[in-house]
Amino acid sequence: MKKQPQSDWSRRALLKGLGLGGLSLAGILGLPIEEQVACATQGVSRASQPSQLRITDLRVAVITGAPMRVPLIRIDTNQGICGYGEVRDGASKRYALMLKSRLLGENPCDVERIFKAIRQFGYHGRQGGGVSGVEMALWDLAGKAYGVPVYRMLGGKYRDRVRLYADTPSVRDKDRFAEKLKERMKMGFSFLKMDLGINLIRNVPGALSRPPVADGERYRTTMHPFTRIQLTDKGIAMLAEYVAQVRKEVGNEIPLAADHFGQVDVNSCIRLGKALEPYQMAWLEDMVPWQYTEMLKEITSAINVPTLTGEDIYCLSGFKELIDQRAVDMIQPDLATAGGILETKRIGDYAQERGVPMAMHFAGSPISFLANVHCAAATENVVALEHHGVDVPWWEDLVTGVEKPLNQKGLVRVPETPGLGVELNLEVVKQHLARGEECFGPTDEWNSRDSNDRLWS
Ligand SMILES: [Mg+2]
Repeated sequence: MKKQPQSDWSRRALLKGLGLGGLSLAGILGLPIEEQVACATQGVSRASQPSQLRITDLRVAVITGAPMRVPLIRIDTNQGICGYGEVRDGASKRYALMLKSRLLGENPCDVERIFKAIRQFGYHGRQGGGVSGVEMALWDLAGKAYGVPVYRMLGGKYRDRVRLYADTPSVRDKDRFAEKLKERMKMGFSFLKMDLGINLIRNVPGALSRPPVADGERYRTTMHPFTRIQLTDKGIAMLAEYVAQVRKEVGNEIPLAADHFGQVDVNSCIRLGKALEPYQMAWLEDMVPWQYTEMLKEITSAINVPTLTGEDIYCLSGFKELIDQRAVDMIQPDLATAGGILETKRIGDYAQERGVPMAMHFAGSPISFLANVHCAAATENVVALEHHGVDVPWWEDLVTGVEKPLNQKGLVRVPETPGLGVELNLEVVKQHLARGEECFGPTDEWNSRDSNDRLWS
C-alpha cells in the first residue's frame, strides 16, 4: 500500500476529529468564512450563537411568602433563551427595572463588563438587590448560550454538594425551641442556626436595662450604640439558658450559630459572648452593625467565640476593611446584595487569602439559591449556605428541570445542566404573586435611558 504523506494524514485526522471526515480540507476552505467557523466548531456544545446574543427585555414577577417577598426577574434575548435572577428579598423590583435601559442591546455573555457598568446603581442592604439580581440572570444566560453550568464558567468546582445550614426563628418556650432545632437535625441538617436575642426576654422584669422610650424614638431604626440597651446579669443568664437547652437536645458536636441579638451595646455583647463560651457556638452573627469595624474587632478580640458579619455589605470593597483588620472571624455575604455570583466569589477568594472562612447568607427563592450553589461550588473557603425556606412547603415547586429535592438531608447537589440549571414553574409563581403584581408583564416604560452614567469628568 502506498504510504500517505504525513501532512495528508494530519489533515484527515483533523477532519475526522471534527466529525467532518466526509469533507476534504479544500472543500471546507472553499466555504464562506461563517460556514468554515461553523464547521470547525461543530463538535462544540452550544445552545445558541453566543457572539450574536443580545438582550431584548427585562421583566419581573414579585412573589410573596417564600418565606419573604422576592422580585424574580427574567431577561429575554433575540435567540429565544432567557435568564433568571432575583432581587434580594424585601427589596424593590425597581432596583432591577431601572437597569433595563442599560442592558437592552448588550451581549449578556459579557457579564463582568456589564456588571462594572451597572455597579454604580447598587449600594449596601437591599439597594444591592437590583445589580446582583441582574448579574445572576446574565450568568444564567451565558451558561445557557454556551451549554455549560455557571460554576464551570467561574473556574470549576471544589465540591459536588454544598452544605446547607437551617435558620431557626426564636420560640419563647425553651423546650419547644430546642425541639425545633432537633427537628432540623432529624431532617438531615448538619449545621444549625438559632435566633437568640433580647426579644426573648424583653418582657421579663430585670433582664434588660434601658432608658424609657421617649416620644418619637424608634427602636427598630436605632443602631446599637444609640439605644443604650444593656443586658443585665439576669438577662445574660436567661439567654445562655436557651443555648444550654438547645445543646442538651442536639448535643455539642453539631455546629450551632446564633443571630439577632438585638440592639445592645458592645459591653453587653462581650459579656454575653463570654457567657456562651461553654456552648461551642459556630459563630455569633451581627452583634453590632457591620459599619463599626473597631467595635466588631473589640468584641472579636474579647471573646473566644467566632464572630461574623456581612449580609448587608455591597461588593468586595465593602468587605476589605473588615477582613484586613480581622475585625470578625468569618464573613457572610448575601449574594443578592453583595453584587452577584462573581463578586461573591471574589469576596470569598480575598477572604481566603487572609485566612477568613465564608458562610453564605440567603433568604430568597430557589433562583437565588441556585446562584448561591454555583458560587459556593466554585469558591474554596465556603463553609455552608443558609436555607431559609425549610418551612415553606411549595418552595422547591417554584422551579423545574433540576434533581429534586434540592435539599437532600442538608446538602444540595451542584447542577450539571446549563446556566443556573433550573426553569421557573410559572403555575406556582402565579399562585404566589404578591398583591397587584403581574407575572412577567410588559415593562416598556423602563426602556429609555435619560441619564449620563459617567462617574468622572
Ligand atoms: Mg443575620
